[in-house]
Amino acid sequence: MSADEGASRRDPSCLFCRIVAGEIPSTRVAEDDLAIAIRDIAPRAPTHVLVMPREHIASAADLTDADAALVGRIFGMAADIARSEGIADGGYRIVTNVGTWGGQTVDHLHFHLMGGRPFTWPPG
Ligand code: AMP
Ligand code: ZN
Repeated sequence: MSADEGASRRDPSCLFCRIVAGEIPSTRVAEDDLAIAIRDIAPRAPTHVLVMPREHIASAADLTDADAALVGRIFGMAADIARSEGIADGGYRIVTNVGTWGGQTVDHLHFHLMGGRPFTWPPG
């Protein structure tokens, strides 16, 4: 099975679809048939990984019951990465931004896994 065979929906103009397809380089830290995890190109924490579906889903606002398995897989992958990165015991943050006021800059669903330092609440 090729790397992007799981990408049933793809937007050729989408940066993260192109990363999923291997057309743009990234540092992958985990992958399976539904999701991939890459290091953020501009990390805001000692560990800053983006976990995303292979298929193009614009944001968390587009998730439905049909995506339950995908969302479970993404959070399971994030927890595995947190353990392998050594940030699980200290605690970490998982966040997804939606739309302009939410701070979303790439319109392909992704979850920021951030750790290795304390975070404030609420975020800015
Ligand atoms: P958001 O602003 O929540 O949509 O998150 C987008 C994230 O993607 C930002 O943290 C960026 O630093 C990151 N990013 C942008 N381009 C790349 C890239 N080519 N490889 C890895 N991360 C990227
Ligand atoms: Zn996409």
